[in-house]
Amino acid sequence: MAKPAYFVGPWDLNQTLACVPDDPAAGSVLLVESRAKSRAVPYHKKKLVLVLSAMHHFAEGLRERGYDVTLVNAASYLDGIAEHVTERQASRVVALRPREWGLDRRFAEAAEALGLELLDDGGPGGHFLLSRAEFADWASGRRLVRMADFYRFMRKRSGYLMQSGKPKGGKWSYDDDNRHHARGVTPPAIERHEPDALTRRIMERVATWKGYFGEVDGFDWPVTREQALADLDRFFEERAEGFGRYQDAMLVGEPYLFHSLVSPALNLSLLSPREICERIALEEDAGRIPLASAEGLLRQILGWREFIRGIYWHRMPALRSANLLDARRPLPDFFWHPERTTMTCLRESLGQVEQLGYGHHIQRLMVQGNFALLAGIDPLAISHWFWAAFVDAYEWVELPNVHGMAVYADDTFTTKPYAASGSYIHKMSDYCRRCPFDVKQRHGEKACPFNYLYWSFMQKHRERLAENPRLGMLYRTWDRFDEAERAAILASAEGFVAGLTPSEGWSFDDDAG
Ligand code: SF4
Repeated sequence: MAKPAYFVGPWDLNQTLACVPDDPAAGSVLLVESRAKSRAVPYHKKKLVLVLSAMHHFAEGLRERGYDVTLVNAASYLDGIAEHVTERQASRVVALRPREWGLDRRFAEAAEALGLELLDDGGPGGHFLLSRAEFADWASGRRLVRMADFYRFMRKRSGYLMQSGKPKGGKWSYDDDNRHHARGVTPPAIERHEPDALTRRIMERVATWKGYFGEVDGFDWPVTREQALADLDRFFEERAEGFGRYQDAMLVGEPYLFHSLVSPALNLSLLSPREICERIALEEDAGRIPLASAEGLLRQILGWREFIRGIYWHRMPALRSANLLDARRPLPDFFWHPERTTMTCLRESLGQVEQLGYGHHIQRLMVQGNFALLAGIDPLAISHWFWAAFVDAYEWVELPNVHGMAVYADDTFTTKPYAASGSYIHKMSDYCRRCPFDVKQRHGEKACPFNYLYWSFMQKHRERLAENPRLGMLYRTWDRFDEAERAAILASAEGFVAGLTPSEGWSFDDDAG
């Protein structure tokens, strides 16, 4: 009798998900390396190694547990599925809905012909805590979908860090306690993973591929659930205590600081968001991490991550073309070649991305994203760069973060841009001390470009932004500058953006796969 097949997407690598049957004899399990997907984006080579190695390790693990597993290389995911259905005469194909819009749509269109049974990727049997319908229910009828409201809803619904229906400690957020710079602090050393023979074979394969970002050398991300769990343990033992306090800090030569580094494994489902949230609550309850750190971590996983994924489905496909501020400038070439900028904050944080495929959230938001916002970079161009360059980036996570948060291309869930001058970067990092530009100057050759770009951005969008009461003071400050100073600031900004060299030669196909 024909049995079903189970399609495990490269993002669904967890045996608890509904795309893996409990009984190894229930049907065949299929994983597909899609050539269309691997060519769609000039990914960081370490990301390619991560995804491919994690897939192959997951397939090996299932085989050892008695599953009938096929891992094929095919023109696309659907081609791989169609070939498998024909070969095995599968009665149907059970799969979780893909996490990206283009793939999700294509899978839905092919469902009838291929016998695809597509299950929600959230809720019971899914990866996310909420189903897509549950988020849509929460968002329906709201003019502005705010993360703070969603986070409270999720805290109450889950009971994490709650006491008698109220937030533990009396506050929903401890962000105000969490904004310390880390100058003079030495973060704990991070133990990384030596590639095994399987990973080394994949590294050799990917190393020869042309037209991708970064290099495979030094690959050390976790590629199995066991490694990801060991990392999670070490994080709670060694760094979680300092996470809250230093989560917004940036230091030259310290890419990881006190961050959890769970996102690459989490976004492949090697870890589940539920188990991380439970662990955070447990560690806090046992007094092993401070409430401010626990709350900051919980907000990232239970709040932001679920919210961003909900927003993605709420706003697609319009989100991709959103460009509220009509930003049209091409991405500067130094995003792909960090050595071409002398601005220390960008050179350091971009160099780190080129080397590791990683940067923490404040580097992404307040250095790279902030620069793109102030310099008027086309939202899709910077969004594509984030998608390609980071080992944990997928469209569902980077697009809402970039368009909604970083460059204010969409105002569905943010009320004002996250714009900051050089003084914010100076406060939170040691970059400015090592920079040829002067963070105290507002214009001229030596002035920090973030300063004149900031004022020029605010001036350019005054009509839209001045109505925001939180920005009124800023415009009063601008109006107090004398006319010559205002003209010099605007001239510095104009000269700077005119001197940017556009990046060339990188192509993207958002819907391929
Ligand atoms: Fe960045 Fe300006 Fe500081 Fe230099 S002075 S590191 S450009 S913020």
